Amino acid sequence: MSAHPQTTSLLEPVPQLDLAAQYAAIGAEIRSAVERVLASQQFILGREGAALEEEIAQLSGAAHGVGVASGTDALILALRACGVQADDEVLIPPFTFVATGSAVSALGAKPVFADIRPDTYNLDPSGLARRVSPRTRAIIAVHLYGLACDMDPVLDFGRARNLRVIEDNAQAIGAVYKGRRTGSMGDAACLSFYPTKNLGAYGDAGMVVTNSGEMAARLKSLRNHGQSSKYVSSEPGWNSRLDEIQAAILRVKLRNLPEWQRARQTHAAAYTKLLLGIPGVAPPLVGEGFEHVFHQYTIRVERRDALQEFLSERKIGSAVYYPVPLHLQPLYASLGYQAGDFPHAEHAAQEVLSLPMYPELRPEQIARVAEAVSEFVTR
Ligand SMILES: *Cc1c(COP(=O)(O)O)cnc(C)c1O
Repeated sequence: MSAHPQTTSLLEPVPQLDLAAQYAAIGAEIRSAVERVLASQQFILGREGAALEEEIAQLSGAAHGVGVASGTDALILALRACGVQADDEVLIPPFTFVATGSAVSALGAKPVFADIRPDTYNLDPSGLARRVSPRTRAIIAVHLYGLACDMDPVLDFGRARNLRVIEDNAQAIGAVYKGRRTGSMGDAACLSFYPTKNLGAYGDAGMVVTNSGEMAARLKSLRNHGQSSKYVSSEPGWNSRLDEIQAAILRVKLRNLPEWQRARQTHAAAYTKLLLGIPGVAPPLVGEGFEHVFHQYTIRVERRDALQEFLSERKIGSAVYYPVPLHLQPLYASLGYQAGDFPHAEHAAQEVLSLPMYPELRPEQIARVAEAVSEFVTR
């Protein structure tokens, strides 16, 4: 039942994420890009940032990109640019990273939760009608783990009630929904370049993409103290800019993103092939018309914590995204939600486990992980 210490100690660990493997491959290119910025001595709102904005907008199928300091700032500024104010309500899923909610709270607005679908972990559009109120201003649809939310019904719902729709695309850059890129569908979409994301900087960075020229102009002003022209501020803004060093690093990585994305998809297919027959283990679902970019490869299993422990004894990394749904976070105790309010989110929080996933993962590592999962279930 337990691992044989001698065999185990010979095994190479399989980390949940391995950024060092990526740096080994592209380090020289990254260093020369950073050198280029250092030589220019132009660090804020220069050529690299402007070029990155164009490249990311193009990849997202959106007309404009506005670089900001983080994915969280992207959400806060997109909400502001959509007109969300204190005491407004914003519909969001409870099963997401806390930033989706805290961005709403940062404006004094109120997050109102709507449950997820148990098979995709994304917002269930059929639950929105029960949660909407005259105070509702916007919906944030999260594309969790790299899989697009079912956007058509969300967009229809928003249009019918004059609500703004914001995509939280922090985890799904490059994903496709019925022929459209994530990031091209809502009024605005927010990206995070946090180091562990599919396109990660070497520090914090983020971006908002939008098809509206008006919204892009507003965002450019908001990220820079509300300045409409130099030293003339027309509204209270912020300092939230994406710096030139991060932009130069991201541009190098962006050239590799299609290849990394294909590698993630190949690894996911290999995992699913090996895991599909194992009783009690549910691999991620990818419906017709969806292209998943596998920011995470997340399975669902009863006795999740025991499996995580079992894997860890075999030096296999794994992670739980996310163990506490937002409506049960201490942060939101004052909103008065209780356990049982969003059963699908709560159930997912108890059963999801993200296995090792990064482009440099090797087939024998995938086989070892799948074998360990199978051993746990069938022992
Ligand atoms: C990472 C992430 C964010 C926040 O991005 P930061 O760059 O870390 O501020 C927001 N939403 C989701 C779903 C995320 O995964």
